[in-house]
Amino acid sequence: MSVVDAFGGKVGELAVTDGQKARSLMLLGYVAQEFRLKWFPDKRLPKSKQYLSWLIMRYMRGVLRHPEQSAMTSLFIPCEPLLSVGYAPYSAEGVSAFMTGTRCQDPLLDAADEDPGLCSYHRIFLGGTRLGLLPTPPFLLYTNVACDANMITFPHVSRTYHIPRFCVEVPYEISQDSVRYVADELREMVTFIEDQTHRLIAQDTLRSAVNRSREACSLYLRYLDLVGSVNVPGDVTSQMYEIMTNHMLLGSEESLRYWRMAVSDYEKGKPDHGLKLLWIHTIPFAQMPVRTLLNFNPRVRIVACEMSYESMIAFQDDPDPYLAMAGRMVRSSFCGGVEHRVDQILAVQKRVHADGAVLFGHWGCKATLASSGMIKDELEALGLPCLFLDGDGCDIHNQSDGQTETRLQAFVEMLEAGK
Ligand code: SF4
Repeated sequence: MSVVDAFGGKVGELAVTDGQKARSLMLLGYVAQEFRLKWFPDKRLPKSKQYLSWLIMRYMRGVLRHPEQSAMTSLFIPCEPLLSVGYAPYSAEGVSAFMTGTRCQDPLLDAADEDPGLCSYHRIFLGGTRLGLLPTPPFLLYTNVACDANMITFPHVSRTYHIPRFCVEVPYEISQDSVRYVADELREMVTFIEDQTHRLIAQDTLRSAVNRSREACSLYLRYLDLVGSVNVPGDVTSQMYEIMTNHMLLGSEESLRYWRMAVSDYEKGKPDHGLKLLWIHTIPFAQMPVRTLLNFNPRVRIVACEMSYESMIAFQDDPDPYLAMAGRMVRSSFCGGVEHRVDQILAVQKRVHADGAVLFGHWGCKATLASSGMIKDELEALGLPCLFLDGDGCDIHNQSDGQTETRLQAFVEMLEAGK
C-alpha cells in the first residue's frame, strides 16, 4: 500500500466518526505535501508543471483552512468577481477530484448513498459536506451549464445548511442575445457577492481579472498550437490540475503565471513522434492503468482535454467584462446541441492534430452518456478514430482496471498500426 493510500484511508476512516478531526489531519498532510512540492518537486516534470502541482496543493489547503473566505461554486461559474474580492472559489467538482487524489473518497461516497442517481463528483461533495470533512462556505454560486446535477446538489446544500445561493441560468441557444442575458445575470451575481461579502467589487479590479483571463486564454491557444508538434513530459494529474487553472483560478495572477511558464516550456520542447490523444470529458486520473499508460510515456500522451479547453477556447474578446465572462459561458462546449460540442472538438483538433480521441463515459453523467454515440459517429465520419471508454473518475466500484487497460492498450496499438 502506498503512503498516499494509507494516508487517505486514515482520513476517510476518521471522517466517519469525526469530520473536523479528519479535516485537521488532511490539512496536516497537505501542509507536508506543499512543502515537499516546493522544495523537492518531481524532477521528471518541467518547471511549469512543478509550479502547478505546488500551486494547486497550496490553493486547496487555503480553501479548506479558510472556508469563510471562499464560496462553493460549480466548475463552470466565472470566478473573476470572487477573486476580485479576495474570496477563493471552492468548486464541487474540483474538490471531489482532489478528494479522489487524496484517496479518501470511499466513506464520502457511502455517506451520500441516498443520492445514488448523481455522479460520483457530486456524491463525494455531498458526503464530504455531510460528514464535516468538507466545510460549508458562506454562500453558493452555480449554473445549469454542463449538467443537471448542479441543479440538485446546490439547492440541497443551500436548504440543508441554510446557505444563500445564486444561480446563473444559461439559455440553450448560442447567440448574442443569450450572451447579453447572461451578462445581466452576472451583474446580479456581482451584487449578490457584494452583499454576502460586504465588499465592493471595483470595476477596474474586475476588468483587470478578466484581462488576465483573456491573456491566459490566448496563451492556452498558443499551447494548443505547440503541443501537437513538441513533447514536454507530463502526467494525467497535471491535466486535472489544469482544469482548475482554467476554471476556479482563471483571472488570477497564478493561473496566468502558469500558462506563461507552460508556453515557455513548450517553446523549448523536443520534436514529438509519439501518439497524441484528444481526451473528451473528464479523465479518470487516479485509475492505475490510465496513469501507467499516460504518465511520462513518449509513446502516447494526452494533448488536450475537453474539461480544460471548454472555457479557454470560448473566450469572447469584449471590452465589457460582463459580456466577456458571459460569452465564455454561452459558448462553452457543454452548451447548445451536440453539433456545437463536436465543432469545439474539431476546432481543437485543427490545432493539436491528435491521432485519436478518447470519449470517457463517466458513470451517471447523463450529459455525456446521452450524446456519446453521436459524438463518436461524427468524429469517426470526419476521420478521427474514437474510443468510447466507460468508467468512473472517482468511484472504484464503477471502475474495471482490467477492462480499461485492455481497451486503452488495444486502441493505442490500433492507432500505432495505422500511423
Ligand atoms: S461528470 Fe457529468 S454529471 Fe458529473 S459533474 Fe461532470 S458534467 Fe455533471
